Amino acid sequence: MMRVWRVSRDRKQAAEVRFFGSFGGFRLTSQTPRQVKFRFAGQRLGDRVNTPIFGVSFIQRTPDSSKYQMAKTTRETVKEHLFWAYANLAMAHTAVEKEQATYKMFNYMIRAKLYKGLSTCSMNIRTLFDDEKIKLSIGTKCNYCNSTDKLALDHILAQKLGGKDEGDNLIFACKSCNSSKGKKDLMDWMAFRGEFLPLMVIRRYLKLTIAFCIDNELMEMKLSDTALQEVPFKINSIPTAYPKPDKLRLL
Ligand SMILES: [Zn+2]
Repeated sequence: MMRVWRVSRDRKQAAEVRFFGSFGGFRLTSQTPRQVKFRFAGQRLGDRVNTPIFGVSFIQRTPDSSKYQMAKTTRETVKEHLFWAYANLAMAHTAVEKEQATYKMFNYMIRAKLYKGLSTCSMNIRTLFDDEKIKLSIGTKCNYCNSTDKLALDHILAQKLGGKDEGDNLIFACKSCNSSKGKKDLMDWMAFRGEFLPLMVIRRYLKLTIAFCIDNELMEMKLSDTALQEVPFKINSIPTAYPKPDKLRLL
């Protein structure tokens, strides 16, 4: 069962679609209610419609990505893609930290400077020291939803695909998040949820991914290389664009 209704307070109207059922909720922010109406064959906002979950094409889309795609990508290598993703994450991070409602010129400048710095090796990705410090201060809470219910350790990069069974790669997750995530890649799960995870979780995933690629000499590889199908992350599911900062959270 799906319900379509308007949620946005933006001038650009958006609509939210939520699935009620055994798979839990996911959310899509569509460009306009009209498109949602179109997708659901003339249903109006607020209507309930019967739609099989696996028949809906947007489930695997990164949330909001269509709306926030920035400069057209010319990034072809793993290194270019990951550094661009990291620079965009840093831009979002600074804007959320300053409690901005929208991105401003200096946020874009931070992104450009960081991307250039990383690409030319004049800057480095920081270690997980800060992330670990934050993890310890958060304590025993689900790092995805902040619940304290039935916590277990979750591997950020899938262990069976080469993710390490070490502290860097482990965070607490509640039973509900764990079972919703199942065996999905973390970024694929995020797209499935239709909502961005806390930025600190994405940062950890990205740092682990970059470290893995450096260790395994994958950084210069083309994004289309089939060897990337054997790694413990989904490089094409890593977001390179973010929604407005007031739609994001750090923790
Ligand atoms: Zn949770």
